[in-house]
Amino acid sequence: MVELGARLSAAVGGPTAKVLGEHLGLQTVGDLLRHYPRRYVERGALTPFAELVVGEHATVFAEVQRTSGRKIPKPNTRKPLHKTDVVIRDADGATMTLVIFNRPWVERELKAGRRAYFSGKVELFRGKVQLANPEYQLVDDEEGVLQEEFAGTLVPIYPAAAKVTSFKIARSVEMALAMVDLGGDPLPDPLRTRHGLIGLEDALRGIHRPPDLAQVVRAKKRLAWDEAFVMQVVLAQRRAATRALAGTPREARPGGLLEAFDAALPFSLTGGQVEVGAVLAGELAQPAPMYRLLQGEVGSGKTVVALRAMLQVVDSGGQAALLAPTEVLAQQHLRSLQAMLGPLGQAGRLGGAEVATRVALLTGSQGAPARRTALEQAASGEAGIVVGTHALLSEGVRFADLGLVVVDEQHRFGVEQRDALRAKGRTPPHVLVMTATPIPRTIAMTVYGDLEVSTLTELPQGRPVVQSAVVPLAEQPAWLGTAWTRVREHVAAGRQAFVVCPRIGGDEPEERATDGRRPAIAVLDAHLMLVHGPLNGLRVELLHGRLAPDDKEAVMQRFTRGEIDVLVATTVIEVGVDIPNATVMVVLDAERFGVSQLHQLRGRVGRGSEPALCLLVTEAETGSPSRGRLDAVASTSDGFELSRVDLEQRREGDVLGSVQSGSRSSLRMLRLLRDEALIREARTEAVALVEQDLLLAGQPALRQAVLDLLDEEQADFLDKA
Ligand code: ADP
Ligand code: MG
Repeated sequence: MVELGARLSAAVGGPTAKVLGEHLGLQTVGDLLRHYPRRYVERGALTPFAELVVGEHATVFAEVQRTSGRKIPKPNTRKPLHKTDVVIRDADGATMTLVIFNRPWVERELKAGRRAYFSGKVELFRGKVQLANPEYQLVDDEEGVLQEEFAGTLVPIYPAAAKVTSFKIARSVEMALAMVDLGGDPLPDPLRTRHGLIGLEDALRGIHRPPDLAQVVRAKKRLAWDEAFVMQVVLAQRRAATRALAGTPREARPGGLLEAFDAALPFSLTGGQVEVGAVLAGELAQPAPMYRLLQGEVGSGKTVVALRAMLQVVDSGGQAALLAPTEVLAQQHLRSLQAMLGPLGQAGRLGGAEVATRVALLTGSQGAPARRTALEQAASGEAGIVVGTHALLSEGVRFADLGLVVVDEQHRFGVEQRDALRAKGRTPPHVLVMTATPIPRTIAMTVYGDLEVSTLTELPQGRPVVQSAVVPLAEQPAWLGTAWTRVREHVAAGRQAFVVCPRIGGDEPEERATDGRRPAIAVLDAHLMLVHGPLNGLRVELLHGRLAPDDKEAVMQRFTRGEIDVLVATTVIEVGVDIPNATVMVVLDAERFGVSQLHQLRGRVGRGSEPALCLLVTEAETGSPSRGRLDAVASTSDGFELSRVDLEQRREGDVLGSVQSGSRSSLRMLRLLRDEALIREARTEAVALVEQDLLLAGQPALRQAVLDLLDEEQADFLDKA
């Protein structure tokens, strides 16, 4: 008997284990048993060839029509090549040729009338589909009688690779199933009863060797529960562990900065801002560290909410740090915090207010003197607020008393980063994560499952909706000129514009899409084209990631001051850039951007009170999927709606992978959108269980499953680091 965690070689032998490891990344018996079939075919039912996709590894069940072999002289060698052509046919009578080299004996087996599974890569040869050098497995005897053991069952078809056919996987799974000792069920009995779930052993057999499709359905449901439940248990444990930590309460102080700030605020807070603000104020005043996600549309006023939380912490004698994903954004945050604070952020300076504090900036690329000053201000506590990139988490940075960390637009802010932060404070700081990328509930529950979530739904009063439109060059080439005319109109009215391109250009290697599309429009080229063409005479400048940090900063400053009319940029402007006077955006080759990305980009305009316009320029044709995505973006400004559109088009793995390290490999059966209800139920069950038995002492199999998941996350994280 072998355990799930045992090396594969213990179950399938060294050579097979090696191949499975190299080609499919399967290392343990558990990995193999969780390599689920992609689909099932009914034994005996011939596969319609019309469904084959060129380039895929396919397994077909077919009947041999005729076989012929011959020797082909091979130049420069004495040994000729032996080639066998096998013509097979499907249920519709369609035929396909298999070409098999140097296996002359196949002619003895593949006689006319015999039926077999053939597995190989689907190729196109002289306009016809063929399988080259397929593996095969005969299923009938010489008389053409289907062998008993195969009759009436479903054949699992596995995600395979060139060197590992679906049969080989099936045989290995068979061996593993025969030998494995599952060692108990990670789902507690009462839970299984409540949700009508079959046992683990039945589920694994049911998914790999199903007697019928009904059993496959039961197995899938049960295995999806495993994934959802184990993950939710991990998250519930993390929440419980966070709650158990002793942090420092940061209570508001009457007559402090926060009151002065509120009194000077030039607008009144929205209902949502007030409500979320009260929640944050309450949690900050608790000894257990707050751990909260604040989501809200671009422009919904998250920064103000975060700043008010920071001021409460400063009032209580602590410090706050604001982490931005890029230097441009860190600098911009510095500017906007200073602008919002006014004299309140000028402690010790002429014109500073009585109850003022200081805002310091710390980035990786700033000069040594500036850095030294900032480090001193952080260490002495002189700076109540320190803004920076992840350089803030580096070793050399010390705080006098770090009480709150605000993380802006940082989706990879996982457990590891949080641990790094803990070491920065005397006690674990409160944490507020902000994101403008609306995350569907299930993703939030899964990825950020140990955060409490607050959402700002309403936009501040008078904020205009950005009018959006697709400029379809395939059908309306002349509209591009109109787009530039609109830009000139906005500039003539004293407004500013963004032109966004998918790449920088210049000596950057031409990134050609695999489908042979032309390279995307580059910032450098678009800039030249616009300066000498349609935007001639306007003040047009560039912003992209290859500029030196100082230059980037200088360009942003000048754009902010209105000294630049049009900024041609990459997605460096995607998040956080806040220029209320920018009212028009033209996105070139818009189909090259993701749905959520476009929504983010669009949020850079319409931040003032003037009506704003976003034009999505594309060559994608009506009816194409990319055009569909653009139409979706143009038709709604609801970020949640768009994030669903986005998610539906991508695999969850990608979503999770891009959102947080880890988690990617652990989801095989679960679909975050489809299984929303299941995930909710699993969360409820997990919370209840962890409340009673934090360390899972009564659930050894579950505890093991949790450890395995954590190992996997850890391995994934190390992989990426
Ligand atoms: P987010 O960070 O959510 O994108 P910000 O906090 O940067 O949004 O707010 C966007 C703009 O709206 C800022 O210029 C900010 O000063 C302004 N703002 C925030 N809250 C309000 C409000 N309640 N009323 C009017 N303007 C507001
Ligand atoms: Mg913001």
